[in-house]
Amino acid sequence: MENEVFYCTICGKILHPISEELKCIYCKEISIADYTCDDHHFVCENCRLALPDELILKTCERSETKNPYELANLIMRHPAIPMHSPIHHYLVPAVLLTALKNVGCELPRRAINIAIKRGKKIPYGTCGSWGVCGAGAGVGIAMSVLTRATYKSDTERARSLDASGESLISISKLGGPRCCKASVYASIKSAISFLEKNFKIKLPSNFEECPFSSYNEECKKDKCEYYKGGH
Ligand SMILES: [Zn+2]
Ligand SMILES: [Zn+2]
Repeated sequence: MENEVFYCTICGKILHPISEELKCIYCKEISIADYTCDDHHFVCENCRLALPDELILKTCERSETKNPYELANLIMRHPAIPMHSPIHHYLVPAVLLTALKNVGCELPRRAINIAIKRGKKIPYGTCGSWGVCGAGAGVGIAMSVLTRATYKSDTERARSLDASGESLISISKLGGPRCCKASVYASIKSAISFLEKNFKIKLPSNFEECPFSSYNEECKKDKCEYYKGGH
């Protein structure tokens, strides 16, 4: 196995063996790195082995980014996150609440943890079986956590329902078969516009291209607005 080549999961460049201290791109902890790419990307052993919910919680709690697309892509590049899976349901509220926290919004204590727990209850395939994509419902979860809505609330409950509703419509417009990556992007796009319209909160909206198209056998390519080169 001496000549086996490994590639960076973040940028795809070749990994070189090293032995120096680097900061983990997920948890931000510094430890001795055994491999890195030319861009010095490093994933620590704990994050390499982390379960998806642990990885998302730790990464979001320590992230300083205001761009939810950037954070979602970083997390979705981790090998523990499959191309399509219910993990995307709780990824959406986690990255939205992180971006909101990082633009200065005051969130309830353990907001990201609460959002992950709620999103985990949405099973696989509910886009087709319930007419409710979990990523879209994740926008409602983020809004509910942000506004501290409950089933007894008035405006806060309405805002959470509206936020999910608008996201679900935007996901429906993507067409099928389902793509969890496109559903995440459409949910984030819808949430950014909802937050600006209803709360005057502005999150960065720059998004370049989907980095997952070549790994997704069901990618709709030119028919998807997030497709590489499809703009
Ligand atoms: Zn890299
Ligand atoms: Zn780490």
